[in-house]
Order: sequence, then structure tokens, then C-alpha cells
Amino acid sequence: MPSLKSYNTFGLDVRCSQLVRVRSKAQLEGFILENNPLAESCIILGGGSNVLLLGDIERPVLRNEIKERSVVSESKKHVIVRAGGGENWHRFVRWCIREGYGGLENLSLIPGSVGAAPMQNIGAYGVEIKDVFHSLEAVNLKTGKTRVFKKAACAFGYRTSVFKERLKGKYFITSVNFKLDKIHQLSLSYGAIQTELSNRNVSNPTIKDVSDVVIAIRRSKLPDPKEIGNSGSFFKNPIIKSAKAKNLKKDYPTIPVYPQADKMSKISAGWLIEQCGWKGKKMGGAGCYKKHALILINRKNATPQDILKLCAAIQESVSQKFGIDLIPEVNFIK
Ligand SMILES: Cc1cc2nc3c(=O)[nH]c(=O)nc-3n(C[C@H](O)[C@H](O)[C@H](O)COP(=O)(O)OP(=O)(O)OC[C@H]3O[C@@H](n4cnc5c(N)ncnc54)[C@H](O)[C@@H]3O)c2cc1C
Repeated sequence: MPSLKSYNTFGLDVRCSQLVRVRSKAQLEGFILENNPLAESCIILGGGSNVLLLGDIERPVLRNEIKERSVVSESKKHVIVRAGGGENWHRFVRWCIREGYGGLENLSLIPGSVGAAPMQNIGAYGVEIKDVFHSLEAVNLKTGKTRVFKKAACAFGYRTSVFKERLKGKYFITSVNFKLDKIHQLSLSYGAIQTELSNRNVSNPTIKDVSDVVIAIRRSKLPDPKEIGNSGSFFKNPIIKSAKAKNLKKDYPTIPVYPQADKMSKISAGWLIEQCGWKGKKMGGAGCYKKHALILINRKNATPQDILKLCAAIQESVSQKFGIDLIPEVNFIK
């Protein structure tokens, strides 16, 4: 059975019955036709940077390796760019920047593939993929038929979409179209972007300048999966009723609270975990990253159970202390 150790950024040594490298839509359609109904239960994998593989997988794993970068159409202000689902996300972002297409620069250095990006509506530094999304093509694993999804059909939300909810595992995303800007509108207000630009004496930044500082900030804060196995933020930031957030603020004045629509508030999951004393802690082969409590790491030959145990212990202590349930952002795959 082939090992998936180098195909998941936690670096967990689990195996699968068959690893299929999908290099074209036609190949995928042929596989579905020949392998019905087994194809329906296949696991889809891109860069493996947002999964927790819970054990050996007794089904084929379809790895998205469909490559394509092209311009579909353009006007004076905008360009529609199409990328194959198996393109590396960061390399695609840098290609867009080199071509002069703006909109993706804040999403630089996010690991993984283009095809998985809509899955959880990836976001960073005040930008989410939904802000630049045009449409995508996906193949139904049961019928082998292609469907085009426009933005509304994707039901994008905070780290979610229809592909993570109702249609989970049903469609293989083969390509994504983005609407990018030729006349750039920079988003600089989030995180340390502005400070870092000032440190570099950049007063009139280009999209490349923004991408470069985002890369530098991320490198200073996040562990490189090539050195320390991890899947980025393990939990979502919880969204709770604003009334409850207000009460928590009385007991914990430093708690970060971000007001949302409909009398709801987002709370920093990293802060909650840190307050429970988890930052830098070890548990079996797993641990909590010393610079960022929201990131669970493969410290030393961790097993999926080590990560699961740590996840459960963190959830338990946050629930006990704050009465808040943490929900994993990472996809658990059985
Ligand atoms: C260090 C680090 C930092 C990160 N930072 C961020 C961040 O800032 N913002 C953010 O949003 N995320 C972040 N992530 C999470 C991750 O990079 C993204 O979620 C990314 O989009 C996952 O891509 P992938 O190709 O690795 O997906 P995978 O891990 O391979 O798959 C993730 C899920 O999507 C499904 N899937 C994958 N490809 C397809 C497809 N073609 N069609 C249908 N389903 C598919 C899989 O079955 C699985 O359920 C980070 C991760 C790491 C390790």
C-alpha cells in the first residue's frame, strides 16, 4: 500500500489502497467510468495541508495534479484567469503578480493547491478567495459529469463552502477562474502589512511589495511544514453571540472580540487556547506550536491518535474555562 507521508503536511505515515495521480479531466472522467461505484467513495487530495489522516485508507486516493494557467478574457480593468486545480497555490499567486494581475497578493504563501482553495474559502490578511472568485469547474464523482459553479452556488462563508458542507466529497474541483484587477486596489489595513511596508521604507507599494511582506510576516510566525509537520490553524475562530462575548469581556478584559453581522462576535481561538496554557505544550508525539497556540504540530513521529488526543484535550479545557466549543478547521479523513 503506498504511503501518504509525503502527501500530508502533518507528515503522518498512513497508507492508502491506491494512489491515483489525476493529470487531466479526461483521465478523471475515464477513472470514474471504469470504477463505478467505487469512484464515489474516493478521497480527494491536493497538497494535503488541511487534512488530518486518521488511519490507513482502504479506498483510492485521487491526487489533483491538473496543471493549467491561462487568460480566459480581459477588459481594460479586469482579467479572468483560469488555473488547473492541481496548480500549487503560492506559485499561481506569484505568477499572477508577475503578469500584473492584482487581488491575490494577500493570499501569498498559503500552502496547498488551487483546487482546494474554494473548499474552505481560504483567507488571510483581510482577503478571502470569494473576493476574487469568478467560477469553477468540478466533476461529479458519481456521474463523471462536469458542473460549473458560479459564486452563489459555492455558498462561501468563513472557512467554509458548499464543498465542505452539503457536497463534501461529491465533486472533484478541476479548475478555478478568478476575476483579477489590472488597476490594483491594495488591501493594507490588516495585520502587520502596513508596519512591515514602513519598516522597508515602501511608501507607494506594488502588488509584489505586498506579497513580499505577507511572505515575510508569515515566515516569521508560522512553522514551515517541511521542518515541523502541521496543518496551519487547527481550529476555526469561534463565532458566538455578542451578548456572551460581552460577558466574557467583563471576566477577561484582554479577550480579542471581532463584531460580526447579526449580533454575533468572532473570538480568537488562538487566544482561548493560550489562556488554557497550551502554547508550547507537548502531548505524546504531538504538541502546540511555541509561537502560535492555534497550530498543532507533529513534534516527534506523531500518530493520528496523538493529534486527536491533543485536539480533544484542548477542546475540553477551552469548553471548561470559557464555555466555548472549538470546531476543527482541518478536515478529518477516515
Ligand atoms: C503552515 C500553514 C499555513 C496555512 N495558512 C492558511 C491561511 O492563512 N488561510 C487558510 O485559509 N488556510 C491556511 N492553511 C490551510 C491550507 O493551506 C488551505 O486550506 C489549503 O487550501 C489546502 O489546500 P490543499 O491542496 O493542501 O488541500 P488538502 O489538504 O489536500 O485538502 C483539503 C480538503 O479539501 C478537499 N479537496 C482537496 N482538493 C480538492 C479538489 N480538487 N476538489 C474537491 N475537494 C478537494 C480534500 O478532500 C480535503 O477535504 C494553512 C496550512 C498550513 C500547513
